[in-house]
Amino acid sequence: MAVERTLSIIKPDAVEKQHIGAILALVERAGLSIKAMRMLHLTRPMAEGFYAVHKERPFFGELVEFMTRGPVVVSVLEGQDAIAKYRELMGATNPANAAEGTIRKLYAKDVGENAVHGSDGPDTAATEIRYFFPGYEV
Ligand code: ADP
Ligand code: MG
Repeated sequence: MAVERTLSIIKPDAVEKQHIGAILALVERAGLSIKAMRMLHLTRPMAEGFYAVHKERPFFGELVEFMTRGPVVVSVLEGQDAIAKYRELMGATNPANAAEGTIRKLYAKDVGENAVHGSDGPDTAATEIRYFFPGYEV
């Protein structure tokens, strides 16, 4: 296990429902440290750029609409095995398949409006951290 950093986004649905504090409490309780944080309303180009890997997927338009409909909270999380640890805390993409106690089980509505994003590997973590925190030491 190594100390890693990962990128988290609390998505518009969770911000609208006032779950920012509850989600951050779960993050800290899991032993992850919040190293940087911003609240912002994504523009369409920012959301499209962030999710560029999904641009051929049928749900891409819906995903961009969703991610730009209200503010999000973006943060850099650090800890032992942070990438896998945060993915585990988030739960499955579809909350119907998410384990008890996970963020998505607790707060997500469906496979689209699923409360949080977390990087899926070291390369994407580095790219995603730089996307929102340019100049941040990854
Ligand atoms: P994850 O966020 O768990 O890494 P993916 O990278 O596969 O999941 O998908 C990125 C995001 O796209 C999901 O978190 C979700 O918001 C949205 N999404 C994924 N699959 C679907 C789908 N079938 N319908 C609508 N939105 C989806
Ligand atoms: Mg993903």
